[in-house]
Amino acid sequence: MGARYYLDHNATAPLLEAAREAMVAAMDAWGNPSSVHGDGRRARALIDRARREIAARVGVGASALVFTAGATEANHLALQGTGRARLLVSAIEHDSVLAIPGAQTFAVHPDGTADLDALDRALAADDAPAVVSLMAANNETGVIQPVADAAAVAHGHGALLHVDATQAIGRIAVDRDRLGADLLSFSAHKIGGPKGVGALALREGVALSPLMRGGGQEQRRRAGTENTVAIAGFAAAMAAQDTDRFAELAVLRDRLERAIADQCPQACFWGAQAPRVANTSCIAMPDVASETQVMAFDLAGIAVSAGSACSSGKVTPSHVLTAMGAGAAARHAIRVSPPPGTTDEAIDAAARVWGDLWRRHSRQDAA
Ligand code: PMP
Repeated sequence: MGARYYLDHNATAPLLEAAREAMVAAMDAWGNPSSVHGDGRRARALIDRARREIAARVGVGASALVFTAGATEANHLALQGTGRARLLVSAIEHDSVLAIPGAQTFAVHPDGTADLDALDRALAADDAPAVVSLMAANNETGVIQPVADAAAVAHGHGALLHVDATQAIGRIAVDRDRLGADLLSFSAHKIGGPKGVGALALREGVALSPLMRGGGQEQRRRAGTENTVAIAGFAAAMAAQDTDRFAELAVLRDRLERAIADQCPQACFWGAQAPRVANTSCIAMPDVASETQVMAFDLAGIAVSAGSACSSGKVTPSHVLTAMGAGAAARHAIRVSPPPGTTDEAIDAAARVWGDLWRRHSRQDAA
């Protein structure tokens, strides 16, 4: 068995050692954080510390951070908890936003960035109170979205702005205030923390009604005993983020795209005309189904994905590439997203696997 390479950071990041250690330690704080006795207080102290640390890293106060069971829940809490009648979401949002009942989409440009004129028109067409959702960076293409400009448009119409920052945390600077976000979602497992924990950060003064009711946890914004262990891992992962180191991955991404373009001038790199997070490459191989490519990579010991991980397993075209006007190419793209620490050898192996498959396919076509 040769080397295996994990190039699917955007699906989930490898667990960081610091997060593992924090979680093991937190298992000793097994009390119920709502209990007033010493065992409870120990767990409470751990959560309070984690909340302060995580909140500070996205530029909010501790009381503005609500822990959830991941970004899917944080997105739902943001969009359903504000009680606004209209939900206007970009066409390239994650399924956990698009699937929220009542969500209406606005367009993106062919380069993968949101069309803010379309947003402006949609907001002007109806003066019902609205909440707009625009992700900070797209999970499939890595395209960084004009969030601060979207905030100006949304606020100009009296709407709130929700930002799904799940694919931006740890990759680029994320500060609630600087982005102009009223609500900001993110998730631990995309940054080397555990799965099943995330957070929603709020602007001071944004009122939220809970989706989960019962206990008074999270200032009555999310009932349910807190996941102490996961929250400790989340805080440790946040503390370990280094956006400068992450930015260095652009060298590997460019190396991969150059090697592929050299072997196949018709290869298409979706989103490459716009600013992208440094690790993400969305590559279309003409006429070859995404699944075929992902399997060829897996056989060669390399983990990549077809569009978003959540839609792998179904053979539907990528809604992100479709919104960008990719047409048939929306069925032919894979996402390569190496984690920090990836080597040149891994990238060169990926370029080789891609090229071999392309040449096999071209020979079959010629035969
Ligand atoms: N938003 C984006 C942009 C994502 O990439 C993901 C994960 N694929 C989610 C939300 C959902 O996050 P979670 O898995 O924590 O529910």
